[in-house]
Amino acid sequence: MGKYHTIQSSKGEKCLICEQNKLEGIHLFQSFICLECEREIINTKTNDPKYQYFVYQMAKVRILQERRQA
Ligand SMILES: [Zn+2]
Repeated sequence: MGKYHTIQSSKGEKCLICEQNKLEGIHLFQSFICLECEREIINTKTNDPKYQYFVYQMAKVRILQERRQA
């Protein structure tokens, strides 16, 4: 995954996974994933139903990107 960075804006950015505004996280493609969610994804086993939700949320980004390129 990308580099960690702190967002300068006081409002932060909307996290792709939890959909809350967070100050710290990573950029994945054009989207933002907060530190907490990124850690959770790493710690979630692939057979956990929660993992499917993460995959689904992240897949949305790819779909949006592909549409943009088309
Ligand atoms: Zn989050």
